[in-house]
Amino acid sequence: MSKKMDIKNLKIMHHITDRDFLGYKITKRSVLTRHHIIKKVHYEIDDITNYALLTTEAHVELHRIESTNQTLYNRITDFFLETKRDCRVLDDSYYSDLEKILRR
Ligand SMILES: [Zn+2]
Repeated sequence: MSKKMDIKNLKIMHHITDRDFLGYKITKRSVLTRHHIIKKVHYEIDDITNYALLTTEAHVELHRIESTNQTLYNRITDFFLETKRDCRVLDDSYYSDLEKILRR
């Protein structure tokens, strides 16, 4: 599947309108990208079940967290995996749970 189709399908699957998986606003300058929740090297199936949609801005931020705060990065990864497993939509309840993880 093409990158464009992956993003389109993921937007539908998770009901994404204006914010990404990390709560960042989608803009013309900060567009959606695919983040591999489980790194490609550890996961043979590389498809939309392993992608979180992050704006370019959020994507940089998440990998900054990965290099500075592994504990927080792992918590975010677990939350993304649960979100994918449950095909959770990104509604107010999702962002409220995300806030709890980011502030813990
Ligand atoms: Zn990434």
